[in-house]
Amino acid sequence: MSAEKPRPSVSPVLVLFRDDFRLADHPALSGACATGQPVLCAFVHDPETTRGDAIGWWLAKARTALENALSEQGGTLHPLSGNTPDSVAAFVKAAGIESVFWNRRYDPTGKAQDTALKAHLEQQGVSVHSSAARLLHEPWTIRTGAGTPYRVFTAWWKAARAMGEPGRCLPAPQHIPFAALPKAAQALTAHAVPSVPPLPEGADAAEADWPCTEADAQEVLATFVDDNLAHYIQEHDRPDKDTTSRLSPYLRAGLLSARQVWHAVRAAATTPALAENAEKFLSELGWRDFAWMQLFYEPDLAWRNLRPEFDHMPWQKSPALLAAWQQGQTGYPLVDAGMRQLYATGWMHNRVRMVVASFLTKHLLTDWREGEQWFQARLVDADPAQNAMNWQWCAGTGIDASPWFRIFNPVGQSEKFDPTGAYIRTWVPELRQMPDKLIHTPWKADATLCRQIGFTPGKSYPNPIVDLKLARGIALECWKNLPARK
Ligand code: FAD
Repeated sequence: MSAEKPRPSVSPVLVLFRDDFRLADHPALSGACATGQPVLCAFVHDPETTRGDAIGWWLAKARTALENALSEQGGTLHPLSGNTPDSVAAFVKAAGIESVFWNRRYDPTGKAQDTALKAHLEQQGVSVHSSAARLLHEPWTIRTGAGTPYRVFTAWWKAARAMGEPGRCLPAPQHIPFAALPKAAQALTAHAVPSVPPLPEGADAAEADWPCTEADAQEVLATFVDDNLAHYIQEHDRPDKDTTSRLSPYLRAGLLSARQVWHAVRAAATTPALAENAEKFLSELGWRDFAWMQLFYEPDLAWRNLRPEFDHMPWQKSPALLAAWQQGQTGYPLVDAGMRQLYATGWMHNRVRMVVASFLTKHLLTDWREGEQWFQARLVDADPAQNAMNWQWCAGTGIDASPWFRIFNPVGQSEKFDPTGAYIRTWVPELRQMPDKLIHTPWKADATLCRQIGFTPGKSYPNPIVDLKLARGIALECWKNLPARK
C-alpha cells in the first residue's frame, strides 16, 4: 500500500478486478470506497491472461456473477480489452482517474503486468494502492532465520502459525458510490464483451455441480463447516464419502477469500474435537499458501524439475498410454474413476489426484508435465501454483516432495480409501455389478461370475494396461540410474 493518503476530490478512482470476483473482503474495493470519491470498476480481457478450457469457463462465470452483483447496486464492471498495462493506462487517462486500486497478484505474468502498470501510472501522476487479498500470508512474509524461503512445509507451517491469525475480513461495502463513465472513456469500453466460453467436451456435470456466485461460495463454506468439519480428519482421504469442503474452485476465482475460510473455520472450533479437525483443515489451506510461495520464488515451477537430476529421467512418450490415462481407460478402477470424475465435473478428490499422478509418472513413466497440462485443461480449480507444486510433489521432482520410491499401489489405495467401491461404482458404471471384494481387481473375476453379471474382461472394461509389479521395478531402476544419484 503506498504511504500517502488519497486527497479528497471528485475525480473518480478505479478498482481493477482480476481473480477476485467478490465484494466482501476485497481490500481494493473497500479502499476505493473509503476515499469518498466516485468509483469505477473494471476488468481487462487480456489475451495474455485469458484462459480457455474449464478454468476459462469458470472464471468467466465468476466475472459474470460479479457483473450482476455490481449491476444490482446500480454499477457496471467496465470491460477493457488488450494488454493490461496499456489498456488500463489509456482508460485511466481518458477517464481522468486519480487513483487505482487492486489486489496483488503473485504469478509471473501478473507480477510483471502490475509492475509495468504501476510504473506507467505513477509516471502519469496517478497513485496506485495495492493490497493483500489472495492468500493468508503474502509469499515473502514467512522466511527462515537465515532469511531464505522455507523448503519444507512442516517448518513453514509452524512459522506461519507462529505469526498468529491472518488479518480480519472486511465486510462488503455498504454503499459503492459509482461514478458515471466519463464520455472520453466510453469508446474504450465499447467493444463486445466475450461471453462465457463453452465447457470442454464431456464436462457435462460441471454446470450443475458448481453454482457460481459469491453467495453460493458462502453457502458451500457454511455447509462444510456445519456438516463436515467435525469429520475432516477421519474422512478427508475418502473419495467415497466426498466430505471435503469443495471450496477450491471458489478460492481459485476469488468468490471467497482464504481469510474468510480461515476465520469461519476458526470460529466453528468450539470444542477440542472440532479444534483438532479445524487445525488439520487449516493446514491443508496452508498448502495453498505454500504453493504460492513456491511459485513466487520459482516462476518456472510448472515446467522445470526443481530437482535437476530428474532432467535425465527416461520418460516414456507413449500417446496410447497417455490417452488411456486421460480417458479413464487404464483398467485400474480407482485411477479410471478419478480421471472420469475430472472429465465430467472439472474436479477430482485430492486422494485420487495423488493416486492418478503417481500412476502416470511412475507406473506409466510419463513426464509429470503431461499430467500437469491435462489437469490445467480440465480442472475448474486449475491453479498455476497449486497444480504445478502438487505435480512436482507427486512426481518426486519438487522441493519437500514425496520421494520417487514411494509409489502408490492403485489397488491398495482403492481398498483402503474406497473400501466398498462406492466411488468407483459412481464413475465406472461398467463395474457396478462387481462384488465388493473384486471391485478393485475386476480382472480377477472368474468366468462363472463374469457370465452371471454379463461382464466380458477386456471388452466391458479394459484389462490393466501395465503390470504393477513390473512397472514399479522399472520405475525404481530408472530412478536409481539417474546420473546425479550415482
Ligand atoms: P479441502 O480438503 O477441503 O481443502 C481446503 C482447501 O485447502 C482446498 O480448497 C485448497 O485450496 C487447499 N488445499 C487442500 N489440499 C491442498 C494441496 N495438496 N495443495 C494445495 N492446496 C491444497 N488444488 C487446486 O486448488 N488447484 C489445482 O490446480 C490443484 N491441482 C492439484 C494437482 C495434483 C496432482 C494434486 C495431488 C493436488 C492438486 N490440488 C489442486 C490440491 C487439492 O487436490 C485440491 O485443492 C483439493 O482436492 C480441493 O478440494 P477441497 O476444496 O474439497 O479440499
